[in-house]
Amino acid sequence: MRSDLCNRCGSCVGLSDGAIVMVDREGEYRPKLVKELSEEQAGRIWEACSGKYFDFPAYRELFYRNASHFHPYTGPYERIGIGYSTDPAIRANGASGGIISQILIYLLEKKMIRGVVTLRMNPDKPWLNEPVIATTREEVLDAAQSKYCISSVNELLPAIASFDGDLAYIGLPPQVQSIRKLQAINDPAVTRIKYIFGPFYGNTLHFSSVRSLLRTYHENDYTAIEKLYFRHGEWPGNMRIEMRGGRVIELKKFHANYLIPFHILKNSLYCTDLTNEFTDISGGDAWAPDYEERGMGYSILFTRTKTGNDLLQKMVDEGYISFGEITENEAITMHSHGYDLKKRGAFIRIRFRRLTGRSVPDYGYALKGFPLSRYLMEAMISFLFLVLGTTPARWFIGLFSPVFIGKWFEKARTFWKKSTYKIKRTNLT
Ligand SMILES: Cc1cc2nc3c(=O)[nH]c(=O)nc-3n(C[C@H](O)[C@H](O)[C@H](O)COP(=O)(O)OP(=O)(O)OC[C@H]3O[C@@H](n4cnc5c(N)ncnc54)[C@H](O)[C@@H]3O)c2cc1C
Repeated sequence: MRSDLCNRCGSCVGLSDGAIVMVDREGEYRPKLVKELSEEQAGRIWEACSGKYFDFPAYRELFYRNASHFHPYTGPYERIGIGYSTDPAIRANGASGGIISQILIYLLEKKMIRGVVTLRMNPDKPWLNEPVIATTREEVLDAAQSKYCISSVNELLPAIASFDGDLAYIGLPPQVQSIRKLQAINDPAVTRIKYIFGPFYGNTLHFSSVRSLLRTYHENDYTAIEKLYFRHGEWPGNMRIEMRGGRVIELKKFHANYLIPFHILKNSLYCTDLTNEFTDISGGDAWAPDYEERGMGYSILFTRTKTGNDLLQKMVDEGYISFGEITENEAITMHSHGYDLKKRGAFIRIRFRRLTGRSVPDYGYALKGFPLSRYLMEAMISFLFLVLGTTPARWFIGLFSPVFIGKWFEKARTFWKKSTYKIKRTNLT
């Protein structure tokens, strides 16, 4: 709970019966022990914790034994494709193609579930997110879109356990991994969960990212935020902050990415799951010039279980989703920079961390055999993350226009994508 291995999934809070609470949400965002835990409670929480230990091969064997395909970068899957919701309102309201929202609404309206564990912006503190069980189309749409600040969905485990009916669950990879760990031991907290979906996961940011952006616009009171969107408007969208008093601050999504190295949650750098490998269906942005130029919103999708694959096919047949298959190679090329970050960079960072004698996550597998140049590049990137995450660096960057810095950041991303283009074919052992 106190180390960089804590991914803030919230399971320890949810399972602790009030003995662990999440504190300092606008700062470090940490679980904190406030009462003694019984040995039984502590054991259960340790079993659920995905920060220190999550055995990818073992859980793959348990949940995806019959998967048709597997690649160490993508995890197990049935089909990969590009798609979007055919309902223009759902598509426009989603982070990319609105597919996750569309699936959830379909399941609710066809009465295949009674609720959805999802993440909305807190109506009382609109600068923070909060998990909620949505039971209507309107509530699902209200919770759509990516929230790039830390979330702890599994704090909701008590409500999930006592919910009257079947549920779909949406979470980031570390949150999903914790749910899978609980399912593996038949924990009663998760028996209501019938479907698991989730977005791809590059990283999340501390709330300091929002405070810092506001300061560059000379706004010092984040409690004056009335609405906070991370992906507002047409795909890929803008970060948009509406302040009390009517001021609106808006920055292109790609430009807002400059906040990442300054405010990244350290644990994101040790997470090796880009594509949410333990879901039934996972979705990300279909990053390719062809789609980006068209706007409107395109998702890349992986169906991973038979349940997920059959559901998607049914929705395609009934006209709810447009879906065209692509190859594994195309999918890996599309997110080559993401795979480089998660499937090469993260393992190298874990090795660096181990060399310093600090505890490291155990994923039951490791990818290695990268060229020396990749280790040198990672040493440079890790050094940059270290320096840029300091208070003076955050202060310094605040002196520049976010649009100016953002443009440079976008150029760096394009360069990174180009330089990792051949990632699948080189040096993967
Ligand atoms: C933190 C984060 C990092 C991401 N990184 C990448 C990336 O590197 N590359 C990439 O291609 N795609 C990434 N995505 C996924 C992408 O932004 C879209 O979420 C994805 O394409 C699905 O789009 P959609 O339109 O189908 O989802 P929508 O229909 O908008 O539904 C999104 C669902 O995800 C839930 N959700 C949103 N944010 C969170 C959160 N923080 N924690 C838990 N649940 C959440 C929402 O409540 C909603 O149910 C990331 C998403 C998040 C949240």
